Amino acid sequence: MKNIRNFCIIAHIDHGKSTLADRLLEFTSTVAKRDMQAQLLDNMDLERERGITIKSHAIQMQYPYKGEIYTLNLIDTPGHVDFSYEVSRSIAACEGALLIVDASQGIEAQTISNLYLAIGADLEIIPVLNKIDLPHAMPEEVTDEIVDLIGCEPGDILHASGKTGIGIEAILNAICDRIPAPKGDPEAPLQALIFDSVFNSYRGIEVLFRIKNGTMRKGDKVKFMATGKEYGADEIGILGLNQEPRQEMSAGNVGYLISGIKEAREVKVGDTITHVNRPTEDAIQGFADVKPMVFAGIYPVETTEYEELRSSMEKLQLNDASLVWEPETSVALGFGFRCGFLGMLHMEIVQERLEREFNMTVITTVPSVQFHAIGTKDQLLTINAPSEMPEPNLIKLIEEPFIKAQIITAAEYVGPIITLCMDKRGIIKGQSYLTSERVEMTFELPLSEIVFDFFDKLKTISRGYASLDYELIGFREADMVKLDVMLNGEKVDALSAIVHRSKSYQWGSRLCEKLRELLPRQMFDIAIQASIGQKIIARETVKALRKNVIAKCYGGDISRKRKLLEKQKEGKKRMRSVGSVEIPQEAFLAVLKID
Ligand code: GDP
Ligand code: MG
Repeated sequence: MKNIRNFCIIAHIDHGKSTLADRLLEFTSTVAKRDMQAQLLDNMDLERERGITIKSHAIQMQYPYKGEIYTLNLIDTPGHVDFSYEVSRSIAACEGALLIVDASQGIEAQTISNLYLAIGADLEIIPVLNKIDLPHAMPEEVTDEIVDLIGCEPGDILHASGKTGIGIEAILNAICDRIPAPKGDPEAPLQALIFDSVFNSYRGIEVLFRIKNGTMRKGDKVKFMATGKEYGADEIGILGLNQEPRQEMSAGNVGYLISGIKEAREVKVGDTITHVNRPTEDAIQGFADVKPMVFAGIYPVETTEYEELRSSMEKLQLNDASLVWEPETSVALGFGFRCGFLGMLHMEIVQERLEREFNMTVITTVPSVQFHAIGTKDQLLTINAPSEMPEPNLIKLIEEPFIKAQIITAAEYVGPIITLCMDKRGIIKGQSYLTSERVEMTFELPLSEIVFDFFDKLKTISRGYASLDYELIGFREADMVKLDVMLNGEKVDALSAIVHRSKSYQWGSRLCEKLRELLPRQMFDIAIQASIGQKIIARETVKALRKNVIAKCYGGDISRKRKLLEKQKEGKKRMRSVGSVEIPQEAFLAVLKID
């Protein structure tokens, strides 16, 4: 155990974690040169296409150093703000962290938030100045920023390039020298923390764990403490490039367990594994509960696929512990699920994974944050969907979630960013210079104003030179109203939204305009109306297709007809009929594109 090192890599997105991980795997010959491909650990298709890490990934390396062999367990973590829950779980399985900072960019918002997570978990931090090969790298300035941030000596900071391979050996040596060996007693009763799980259709559910105390052997009878369920440890092993079975694994190590578990519900990330015969008294302290930031309904496009969607969501949840959901019924869409997500990117990824990994076609409805209502008898009601909003006469007041946002940017963009935040009902709380060029600003803002498109706006006005991180700070009273949408006089509950009264008229008319663009034309006019209570505040019409257009389509032109049919087929994807009106997926997300 004295030669085991468990570490993660934390950084702001794009600062080079995955590339640096590639170099570590190469240098330790964990991956043969010929098997090497860029961002090797990002093995999900979606990660490769988007060039981002979504899941944490674990891999073990062997490294000879000072005459001994060290076992290094690396956990690569995502950098996007939506996935910080993955980061905090990985951190719980480690004793140290490489803090990567891009030498041409400097410290960004997620550098700081991830660092705080790591410090909070008592990890040894090894700061690394990465991308020093870039001609516009600013090693002196960024060194100053890092020294200021973590209070280290300039000499503690390693210089590296994941691209050229400079500094890789020094990083491996520092991991062995500076990160403490795991503590724990291999003879004590077994305590292993489940930090992740994956559904595999051939092998059942694979559980990833980190052993804190004790030893697990192949064939042992084990118990999951939260569920009380017992299993045989059919196969255990380490996570090399592929899974490598082992006869036994003990305290300090990281590995996988396969035990014929078929029910997704039985595995809870954060649970403790122990022995049936010699159980531990104490479960390892799990993870803090996830706090979803955005809620939306997910509905099957084919209503008959409801049960299949439920089982797909259970399997997906195994691999994404931050996804929460419960059944929901919509008048317009029938049976579906109300889901909580960490942000819009997370919502998009969930929808895509359901489609790719489970072959489900789903519609996500208008996203919303969670509101609180205080009833006339002072009771607290949580509102996760516009349909749950009580009538105004049944409540005293509504509260909306507020966040503290930290924005790091170049000095010249301070003015425009303040204007943007004021427009979003924000309050500036602080401003300080990191260097003469770079400023850190703190705002308090309503969550509902920033979860949807704030980040895109921020990027646009700062030409990409701004990063954002935020955390919930509580609920505050707000004058919110429910905005309903009617199509041909029929209220479509899945299109309702909760908006601030001061912006409701503007929202209503922009939403109707957007819907007019997005709803496909049909044989009849479609009247779109927005209302607050009984009052109609905006109206638009989607004009009917003219007869001769359709007549042409049914004429003799075969290729044109086929094209049209194909188009219709594609349209079947993410489209739901409500009454006689067909609503495409984009229409449900129209609220995101309003201002
Ligand atoms: P991650 O989001 O932190 O995992 O970052 P990636 O490893 O995906 O890298 C982001 C981008 O930076 C990619 O285009 C990499 O090719 C590039 N990159 C990573 N490390 C270096 C480096 O040391 N030097 C240079 N010049 N580019 C790098
Ligand atoms: Mg990555």
